[in-house]
Amino acid sequence: MSFEYLGLSDELLKAVRDAGYDTPTPIQRQAIPAILQGRDVIGIAQTGTGKTAGFTLPMIDILSQGRAKARMPRTLILEPTRELAAQVAESFEKYGKHSKLSMALLIGGVSFGDQEAKLERGVDVLIATPGRLLDHATRGNVMLNGVQVLVVDECDRMLDMGFIPDVESICQKIPQAHQTLFFSATLSKEIKRLTDKFLNDPKLIEV
Ligand code: AMP
Repeated sequence: MSFEYLGLSDELLKAVRDAGYDTPTPIQRQAIPAILQGRDVIGIAQTGTGKTAGFTLPMIDILSQGRAKARMPRTLILEPTRELAAQVAESFEKYGKHSKLSMALLIGGVSFGDQEAKLERGVDVLIATPGRLLDHATRGNVMLNGVQVLVVDECDRMLDMGFIPDVESICQKIPQAHQTLFFSATLSKEIKRLTDKFLNDPKLIEV
């Protein structure tokens, strides 16, 4: 099985070749077509399985239509730690190098002013840790009602770190009609409660 059969654009296939990938990993084989079809997805996968490309590649294709408005990101990716958020930002830069998507990273330890200026210019892809995102939302720097695709990555670490109430309040700020992707190493009772509440007929992918 090669990447050509997953429904990605030629531009993305080129980025995949440039990254040196020959074959999609199991999570990529299942997640990429489902995300391109607009489905909600629960991906049960550990770090190292290629899940980041599994959601960033189709998101870049989805975002190729349309433009970002000031303070209204088109996609939101939540990560539990600054390091993971920075890694996902690197993946977007690598796979999206042929696209003209704008991206902002909202993590702690960086000044609010620079982040706010980026939000004001409009971002296609917002990658954030929950606390810093909620701080910006409270200040009126970012509005989440334009988010088309929401990714909650590393749900079990979100749970371990006590971020589930923040994740829940972020999900509540985003209207029903968006596409939601949850990734977790395990599907615990608490995470199942969240997916039941916020996902619509999700495709469950376990690798
Ligand atoms: P992730 O699980 O998304 O953190 O990815 C783990 C590592 O696998 C990263 O270093 C990726 O660059 C690499 N990777 C992702 N997809 C593929 C693929 N289809 N073939 C080879 N390596 C990959």
